[in-house]
Amino acid sequence: MKFYYDFHIHSDLSPCADGEMTPNNIVKMAKLKELNIISVTDHNAIDNFPALEKVAYQEGLYILPGIEITARENVHLLAYFREYEEAKGVADIIYAHLPNIKNKPSIFGEQNIYDENDVKTDHLEKLLINATDLSIKEITSLVSGANGILIPAHVDKISYGIIGVLGFIPKAYSFRYIEVFNKKMTEDGLEQYEILHNSDAHKLADISEAENFLEGNDIEDIMKKLGL
Ligand SMILES: [Zn+2]
Ligand SMILES: [Zn+2]
Repeated sequence: MKFYYDFHIHSDLSPCADGEMTPNNIVKMAKLKELNIISVTDHNAIDNFPALEKVAYQEGLYILPGIEITARENVHLLAYFREYEEAKGVADIIYAHLPNIKNKPSIFGEQNIYDENDVKTDHLEKLLINATDLSIKEITSLVSGANGILIPAHVDKISYGIIGVLGFIPKAYSFRYIEVFNKKMTEDGLEQYEILHNSDAHKLADISEAENFLEGNDIEDIMKKLGL
């Protein structure tokens, strides 16, 4: 059976995402697009997961706890977990390693936390789109220590993509999956990796159509396939 996925979506917690990216809107749009499993990966934070999980459960959509972490090298890394508690533990450490710079919502956008009724309950103070002072290596061990997996995001993007920034993917990090943004990109030299295509949606309409899938008998198979 095919599990259609979009593992890279931003909620209104990311300052760069639209205000329409609330838990209910994201889940309902994912359902409308006939996706089976999603992850909402906000920049260096995961605070909308509890609300998203409740809504997704009601709608029969699988959702993985995820974070898009900015390494010191200015590379974006997607971290996924089985359990929210483990993901939240990592997110708290990540947040502590962001520079102490306050968000200016009028310039960068709001960083809102919602409940399952799409009511704003809180916001985060530190600007989330800054880089942490943690290296890719340090983030790799932080995430694996919490039983998570780490996938370099949009490797082919000039800004914040690992190939764009470093020029190559260091073998030492032993990534199994990579995310490729441009579906037409040549995969020469990337044969040793499993490739994911996600939307990196910052607005509702950009959430993936049912076009990218992982195959398995059930959700456990998909987890196993991802290494979770
Ligand atoms: Zn990114
Ligand atoms: Zn992103």
